[in-house]
Amino acid sequence: QAVNPDQPEYLQAVSEVIASLEPFLQQHPRYTEQSLLERLIEPERIVMFRVCWTDDHGRVQINRGYRVQHSMAIGPYKGGIRFHPSVNLSVLKFLVFEQTLKNALTTLPMGGAKGGADFDPKGKSPGEVMRFCQAFASELQRHIGADTDVPAGDIGVGGREIGYMAGMVKKLNNRADCVFTGKGLSYGGSLMRPEATGFGTVYFAQEMLQTRGLSLEGLRISVSGSGNVAQYAVLKAMELGAKVLTVSDSSGTVIDEAGFTPEKLAELMEVKNHLYGRVSDYAARLGLPFHVGIRPWGVPVDVALPCATQNELHENDARQLIANGVCCVAEGANMPSTLEAVRLFEEADVLYAPGKASNAGGVATSGLEMSQNAARLNWSHGEVDARLHSIMQGIHQACLIHGRGPDGRHSYVRGANIAGFVKVADAMLAQGVL
Ligand code: NDP
Repeated sequence: QAVNPDQPEYLQAVSEVIASLEPFLQQHPRYTEQSLLERLIEPERIVMFRVCWTDDHGRVQINRGYRVQHSMAIGPYKGGIRFHPSVNLSVLKFLVFEQTLKNALTTLPMGGAKGGADFDPKGKSPGEVMRFCQAFASELQRHIGADTDVPAGDIGVGGREIGYMAGMVKKLNNRADCVFTGKGLSYGGSLMRPEATGFGTVYFAQEMLQTRGLSLEGLRISVSGSGNVAQYAVLKAMELGAKVLTVSDSSGTVIDEAGFTPEKLAELMEVKNHLYGRVSDYAARLGLPFHVGIRPWGVPVDVALPCATQNELHENDARQLIANGVCCVAEGANMPSTLEAVRLFEEADVLYAPGKASNAGGVATSGLEMSQNAARLNWSHGEVDARLHSIMQGIHQACLIHGRGPDGRHSYVRGANIAGFVKVADAMLAQGVL
C-alpha cells in the first residue's frame, strides 16, 4: 500500500491473493523464505513508451504504451495487449500479477506479462487502427521474442490488431516467427484460439456444477460483455443446453427472455466483429429490448458469466444475484467481481470461480499455439479442443486439491491462488535470488 498508493486495482488483486495465502504460508514456512512474496509482487520489468501515429486528418496523435514483464520463472513472459483508454500501470500490474499465477495453473511453461496502451479503438477508422498498431509494434518489438516474451490479444485487441502488429514485427526483424499468439490461421495461428477463453470458462463452470450433481442443460445464464470472450461463452453455453439471456457493453444490456440462438449469435458476431458496432446496434437489428446504463446482474439466473472487464460486478449486484438464486459464477473476464462481491458469493456457498482459474483457457491455447509453431505443425480443431478441455479439468482439480480451508470449507479462490503460487514459488526457489 505504501509503495503503490495510487494503484487501487493492483492492491485489490494482491490483497485477495495474500489473504488466501496467509494460512497456507503459516503451515508451509519454506514459502516465506528469500522474501518470495515480496519479490512476486514487484514485476521484473516495466517498459513505458511513446506511441506516435497520424490520424486520418494528418494530425500527429500520441499515446502511452506499456509492457510489464512480471515473471520469467516458469517460461517466457506471456500475456495479452489491451487497447483501452483506462489502461494505466495499476490496471496492467493487477492483470500481470493474475497472469503469472494463471499461466502457472495451466501447467504449461509460460511466465507472466501484460501490456497495452491508453488508445481507444472506438470510432477509429481501419487505417487509423492499422497505423496505431504498427507504431505500437515498432517499439514493442525491442522487448519481445519467441523465447523472451510472447504477446497476445485482450480488450480492444483481436485478430485484426494482432495481424497488424505481427506484420510490423516480422518486417522489422526479418524473421518469420511471428512471436504473437492469437494469429490468423493464414500465418501460423491455432484453430480454437478465438473460442478458447469463452469455451474454457464454460468448461470450468460445467466442472463446478458437476461437484453438486448439476449440468448446464436447461439452466438460465447471464453473460456480460459482447466481445471475444462473451461471444464464445454464449456459444458453448448454448451448445451444452443452457439458455443465455443477456449480453452487454459499457453502454447497456440486451435482455432476451427467449434466449440466444445460433442465428442471433451470428448476428451479434457480424455487428461486433465485422461492422465494429455496439450491442445496441445488435438489439436494434433484431428488435430486442436494450436497457441503457444497466448491467446484466438484475436478471434472475442460475449461472452468471462476467466476461467484460474488471470490477463490473459490485456488492449490490452480488446480493441481487444471490437473492435471485444464482448457484454458479465463473469469471471469463479478469477480476470482474469486487472483493465485497466475492466475499458474498463465498459466504452464500455459491460456486464462485476467479478469472485466473476459469478464464485460463485462452492463454492455455496460446501455449498450444506456441507448441504448434515451434514444431511447425497444425493440430485439428478436435485435438486443440480436447487439450483445452483437459487443461480446464486439470485446473479445476488443482483448485479442489488446494481449496480446502482450515475451517473445512472449500474455496476456488483459495485453491487457484495456492495452486498457482506453489508452482511459481517452487520455480523461484530453485533458481535462487534474482
Ligand atoms: P473485447 O475487447 O473483445 O470485449 C470487451 C467487452 O467488454 C466489450 O463488450 C466491451 O464493451 C466490454 N467492456 C470493456 N470495458 C468495459 C467497461 N468499462 N464497462 C462495461 N463493459 C466494458 O475483449 P475480450 O473479450 O478479449 O476481453 C474481455 C475480458 O476477458 C477482459 O477482462 C480480458 O482481460 C479477459 N480475458 C480475455 C482473454 C482473451 O483471450 N481475449 C483471455 C483471458 C481473459 P465496450 O465496447 O462498450 O467497451
